[in-house]
Amino acid sequence: SATAVSVEAPASEASADADPCCAAPLPVLGRDVTVPLVTGGEVTYAALDYAASAPALQRVWDDVAAYAPYYGSVHRGAGYLSQLSTDLFESSRATVAEFLDCRPGDQVVFTRSTTDSLNLLARALPAGCRVFVFETEHHASLLPWRDADVTYLDAPRTPAEAVTILERALAAREPYAAALVCVTGASNVTGELWPVRELAAAAHAHGARIVLDAAQLAPHHPVSVTGLDVDWVAFSGHKLYAPFGSGVLAGRADWLQEADPYLAGGGASRRVARREDGGVDVDWHTTAARHEAGSPNVIGVHAIASACRALTEAGFDSLVARERHLIAKVRAGLAEVPEVRVLSLFGDDAGGTPSGSWGRVGVISFVVEGWNSSHFAAALSAEYGIGVRDGLFCAHPLVRTLLGSAPQEQGECGAPEAAPGERSLNAIRVSFGAGT
Ligand code: PLP
Repeated sequence: SATAVSVEAPASEASADADPCCAAPLPVLGRDVTVPLVTGGEVTYAALDYAASAPALQRVWDDVAAYAPYYGSVHRGAGYLSQLSTDLFESSRATVAEFLDCRPGDQVVFTRSTTDSLNLLARALPAGCRVFVFETEHHASLLPWRDADVTYLDAPRTPAEAVTILERALAAREPYAAALVCVTGASNVTGELWPVRELAAAAHAHGARIVLDAAQLAPHHPVSVTGLDVDWVAFSGHKLYAPFGSGVLAGRADWLQEADPYLAGGGASRRVARREDGGVDVDWHTTAARHEAGSPNVIGVHAIASACRALTEAGFDSLVARERHLIAKVRAGLAEVPEVRVLSLFGDDAGGTPSGSWGRVGVISFVVEGWNSSHFAAALSAEYGIGVRDGLFCAHPLVRTLLGSAPQEQGECGAPEAAPGERSLNAIRVSFGAGT
């Protein structure tokens, strides 16, 4: 059965609690926002929903404000400000490529979000491509492939089992023209890290490629395309302490450049001409611009690059140490409440993946016995000014697995969905990061 979670912090995390290691949180917007309480008065808002959207770093906001007077069209104008904006836009690609430790020749395509990036890749699959995806993925990673030939993989109970399940599935399905594995780096429900390097090795050993959904990983942990040996990586600006509306798909150029443009329009085309027969001939770009038709989101892209620089300068060693400290505190606090059950797929194995890496990011979901999760989350907001999320977190199959595997003594969490009038079987999620 899926692991009933030990709510005790693993020893390595518990010791972080005593470790006065931690640097100060990075300044973010909204730290001083006060909100009204139902009980009267107001309180400083505690933003604990970073996994949905993290507050923007003050430094990112300042960078965007400094650029605002120089705002101009990208790739279109001859004027000084257009040139400046174009330089800023293009140099942001280099910043992101460096942040992700990309290989020479990899392309960085700017998109709207992780969802957009994965849908773009889904449109670029070669004919006959088979996709392998764990049922535990966020819907953004689970759903874009539905037009392809998809193998949905069962939820693993340990990181090692994830590799075994994938290897077995890849071996069983050979031969195929092309194959793609899609996997998350860190779960948006449990915060657990997945054994990405090992899954990439398994994929490559069977001639498949792999895309990493780093929406929850990149804000918390360094991501090296080269080191993990993944073919593509996707992430969103609004989870990486930048504002909404921009995202990244970075990785191998070939499939992207052999595919039709994601959007047809200006910017994606090099040359367009009427044919004698009355039709139109188009010569598409073979750079990242091929998939970036239309006027791009230069502010969003500038903000992502600024966030990449800020995180790199702050140093992931220090960010990770600080976050481990916070994870230990939250888990220890939850462990003191007998009614709380923290949700986990890997259980204590999450403390050490096969990659030997730190096992979790600051995303913790739980249920409180005897409480409707939605009411509980609403009460946290109304009575304490604490902003969390409740629900199934756009990962319905995973949350159903986690809730459905509740041990008997934890109450009647056996049914995946509440019948009308019954208490909801949603979960509550607290999530935090560099600004907490
Ligand atoms: N992947 C994971 C693991 C996520 O947590 C999310 C968002 O919560 C996404 C993908 C989708 O990100 P976006 O909504 O920015 O496209």
